[in-house]
Amino acid sequence: MDERVPKKVVIDPGHGGADPGTSANGIVEKDYNLKISQYMSKRLNDLGIPNTLTRTKDETLSPNERVNRIKNIYGTGNDVIVISNHLNSGGGDGAEIIYALRNNDALSKKISDNMLLSGQNVRKYYQRRLPSNSSKDYYFIIRDTANNESILMEYGFVDSSKDDVNQIKNNYETLAEAVVKSLAEYMGYNYSPVKIDNNNYYIVKKGDTLWSIASKYGTSVNKLKEINNLSSNLISIGQKLILPSTNKYIVKKGDTLYGISRKFNTTVSDLIKLNNLKSSTLQIGQVLIISK
Ligand SMILES: [Zn+2]
Repeated sequence: MDERVPKKVVIDPGHGGADPGTSANGIVEKDYNLKISQYMSKRLNDLGIPNTLTRTKDETLSPNERVNRIKNIYGTGNDVIVISNHLNSGGGDGAEIIYALRNNDALSKKISDNMLLSGQNVRKYYQRRLPSNSSKDYYFIIRDTANNESILMEYGFVDSSKDDVNQIKNNYETLAEAVVKSLAEYMGYNYSPVKIDNNNYYIVKKGDTLWSIASKYGTSVNKLKEINNLSSNLISIGQKLILPSTNKYIVKKGDTLYGISRKFNTTVSDLIKLNNLKSSTLQIGQVLIISK
């Protein structure tokens, strides 16, 4: 790697417009590719990492147009990292990371490690060759992007029978964050996690009352009514109630200790210590102490 040239990132939301990519379970690939890419761009901006998207709307792009955009953004050199964002289908489960024949696996391995930490399983990181010419890359976005360091991300399977559908629908920002963190580390930027202001909320379940929720989370009915602008004690199933800011966090679907530690700027080992956890398995609804 030539350290004299600062690297830049081209983020490519795969498919778009007349080409939806794959779809299942209410997930249309092109839409999530764009959401993932826009999140990634916003976060790279936060960290001061130069980046540009190939498309910012639901737009049809031929392979040629896409590649030309990439070449015109920062050029064809190895100082440009291309991350092409995709979702998979075919019945598997887990992320795949495909890197170019011209590159080593350093960045892909980093992404794989961070993806695992974010709670998504990784099938493999690998190079994929064109069957008709094994000296060439399988994917045009890798094959036709000259000396760029090009990676194609498959975040998960839209038709998975395991957790990928949930990972994509509810956790796509966490999955994208794993790539953001990897890029920051790889490119030598300081990484800082997302700050979430009020992440403390509770989703009302059958049988709940304001009183039962208040006592469960160590607050009062009046306090709950005040911060949620409730004029009566009536609550409905599925309603999202903000909890007073405390040093506690209620585990949500898809949460991992690592993800929570990042949200609150703490560490997994501190969380384990504070909460006397015997394993890293979390239950939805579990109350975690974040700080003393
Ligand atoms: Zn795709």
